[in-house]
Amino acid sequence: MSKASNDKTPNDGLANSIHTPGNSTIDQTMSAPQSPTTNHAPTSEEQAILVHLALADMNRSVLSQNGTNHSTTLLPQFTPPLNGGFPKVHMSHSTQIFDHLDNRVLLTWFQVEQPKFMDRVFDHSRRDIAERATIIVEHVHANITTIAESTHHDALPVHVFPPQPQGGKGAKNFPIGFLVHRVSNETKNLLLNQCIWSMTDLTFEALPFNCTHPPELLFGSTGFTTLDIVTILQAISETWTQDNNRYCIEEFFSKCSLPDDELIYKATQDFITSCHVKLLDFKITGGLLVPHFNILTTSPTNDAKTWTDLRSYLSTLNYPTSLDGYRTVTALFTCQICHSLTHPQGLCLFPLVPHWNGLKVGNRNNNNTPHQIGRARGSRPGQNI
Ligand SMILES: [Zn+2]
Repeated sequence: MSKASNDKTPNDGLANSIHTPGNSTIDQTMSAPQSPTTNHAPTSEEQAILVHLALADMNRSVLSQNGTNHSTTLLPQFTPPLNGGFPKVHMSHSTQIFDHLDNRVLLTWFQVEQPKFMDRVFDHSRRDIAERATIIVEHVHANITTIAESTHHDALPVHVFPPQPQGGKGAKNFPIGFLVHRVSNETKNLLLNQCIWSMTDLTFEALPFNCTHPPELLFGSTGFTTLDIVTILQAISETWTQDNNRYCIEEFFSKCSLPDDELIYKATQDFITSCHVKLLDFKITGGLLVPHFNILTTSPTNDAKTWTDLRSYLSTLNYPTSLDGYRTVTALFTCQICHSLTHPQGLCLFPLVPHWNGLKVGNRNNNNTPHQIGRARGSRPGQNI
């Protein structure tokens, strides 16, 4: 009976449904009663049946339209997206994806037409990426092409450009972002929305080709003798709200085009209340506990200089607690799996993601608690910041 179609839109689905009273497009069947009267007024029960059937038609139509862009349906080779989103990758500034990139290459990339986006590959050190750029380009190209084909909007072959370090082969620091272009907007949006794509031969993060909002990560702290994040948060809040420190924070926000004192006061208040603390349960050789905290906030401004100056100022302050010591400066980590600056490789959360295709970390507890004895290979604090 049903003539469910693929080209029906949600808007006309209910009105044009074959189950809607008065619709004359119902197919006649051999066993159908002859000449049902068109003047029949359905009872309330019959009306309810018709409405439910019409909604079912509409839902089938919507599902069929959305299904063409549903990555988990058509691209089972990739790790499926998490309901709550993948773990966040924390960077040190808004354009870190372009760090250490040759200036001439960056200027050329500026002139590459949209749609374009950046691709940061996982599971490689920066040097690995420089030395294996050609192979990685092939993997990126193959995977993006697979995704592009699923959207049916891409006619041109995908182009992938490797990064080149400032200073050439002898450079000390290496860029990690690849430029991808010649994709449709549909493909680009699909990639950016899911953000993390993990296959057995490549895992990457798709990033927009622009300045992102200032990162949440402010600095790392150690030296406290407690694991209680509430105590640490209290020490930070009390320090920032001291009159002289609060005045300095307001001074920073007054330089970023906030129009009046009221908004500067509100920005300062929002900034302080947005602070949150994350504990890294970190042990050194011998099992000694060394609590390490990451301090994160939400910047109320996109002004890069304001945020950089403010972060420098706040990272030099003392944060004493009553009984649990005070903060000492510590460098950030670099995770070689996801490149986040908030943890060493051994504490990376990505290998715990269900059906994760990327690099696995072997020395974990079985209860899924990020935990590490000793420091992971190649993850000394302060690398490549
Ligand atoms: Zn990581």
